[in-house]
Amino acid sequence: MNIHYDYILLQMLMVLFPIILYQAIMSDKKMSQKAETAYWFAVCAITVSLCIVFSIQLEEGIYLDLRMIPWFLAFIYGGRGVGLLVSAFFIVIRFLMGGNGMITAFLVMFAGCLVMIRFKMQFTNWNRPKKIYMSIAFLVLTSLALIISGALLLDVMTTKVRLLVYIIFTAANSITVWLTVHLLESYREKTELLNEIRKNEKLHVVGQMAASVAHEIRNPMTSVRGFVQLLSTSSSLSDSEKGYLSVCLMELDRANKIISDYLSLGKSLDQEKLCPVNLSWIASQSVNSLSSYSLMENVEVKFTIDHKAIVLGIPGRVQQMLVNLIKNAIEAASPSGLVQVTLRKKEESVEATITDNGTGMTTQQIENLGLPYYSTKEKGTGLGIMVTLQIIKEMGGTWTVKSQLNQGTQFTLTFPLAQEDGSLASQESSLVSIP
Ligand code: ADP
Ligand code: MG
Repeated sequence: MNIHYDYILLQMLMVLFPIILYQAIMSDKKMSQKAETAYWFAVCAITVSLCIVFSIQLEEGIYLDLRMIPWFLAFIYGGRGVGLLVSAFFIVIRFLMGGNGMITAFLVMFAGCLVMIRFKMQFTNWNRPKKIYMSIAFLVLTSLALIISGALLLDVMTTKVRLLVYIIFTAANSITVWLTVHLLESYREKTELLNEIRKNEKLHVVGQMAASVAHEIRNPMTSVRGFVQLLSTSSSLSDSEKGYLSVCLMELDRANKIISDYLSLGKSLDQEKLCPVNLSWIASQSVNSLSSYSLMENVEVKFTIDHKAIVLGIPGRVQQMLVNLIKNAIEAASPSGLVQVTLRKKEESVEATITDNGTGMTTQQIENLGLPYYSTKEKGTGLGIMVTLQIIKEMGGTWTVKSQLNQGTQFTLTFPLAQEDGSLASQESSLVSIP
């Protein structure tokens, strides 16, 4: 039996090459979602074919190679569609090759696709080490399944040479999948970190600019407010003129409040300033304060809010956060859309969702959320989401967004529940559980 051990190294190189190429391309210019999907399909299909061409043939019909890795990567990094396409491509190639192990290969592939769809759903929630060892475990199990089922079905004897090839084959699969997942995950972490740094840099610049502009504007505003107040006490004014002046005062106060909010941008707030607030009450207040706006935009706002959810925050800012999100949802759903606000208490946290059936966003737009001045609206400021994200952060909360173009958007915010005395619910329960 003439075994090409050198083919193993060649296959490792063939699997790793597209990963390195991917990083090189992406570091110069970010690919669009479509281009990325096409890239993953093309390289995974090509690598599967090359692995098959350079596979180690043990018997007629038994081929050992690393084709499972590009197939695995297609599911994990290309998505379910790419994974299934690569599987279909593989089945066609395997059919054309013929041989004894064909049925086994098809069965393993079918079962593998089902497992991969579930695996992929969990994968995104794991941290890097777990992603790596779960991927290795998956590849080792698949390799063993292929070896054992092949040996049983074709009834081949296990000789020393075969055993050695099996071990090398399983080890090569594990090492290569470890390298690929490690490279791709570190690259992803690096890009996320870089984006975070860029965002923070911009935030810092905006914060400083806002602070200096706001400071300069505040002084003349204070004197204008004083004179308007003086004028409103004059007896020669008609009722309607007094009404106009009170609107002036209200708007000046609102402008002053906006300036204060932006002045706090970029500053990390003192944790001690946070106090227990009833998120349920603030949420219903926020919906109510936007009722005339939603009526004007012809958007229905429905809300389902659990009674009394205490979180730590600053009342005015918590309301500002919810108003920003609900207002965006109304604007996206306008005209004649629907916005749903829900607030659900869980064991140790509270989850707020703001859902609309409006314009939705592309992946690129979602990535830009939170960047200063990022707005797709003619009269937008592009500061709302940025402030909102900062408030969520200062409250110790997390957020996720799901959106589909022309279908709608859902923002989900999660905050740790607190007690009325200001302690966190999770701290309380851990205290209770100490015997
Ligand atoms: P502005 O509302 O002034 O444009 P924001 O920071 O509030 O600024 O929002 C930034 C951008 O995010 C919006 O211009 C819009 O493109 C997008 N966006 C935010 N929320 C939604 C939503 N619910 N649906 C669709 N797009 C949204
Ligand atoms: Mg907005």
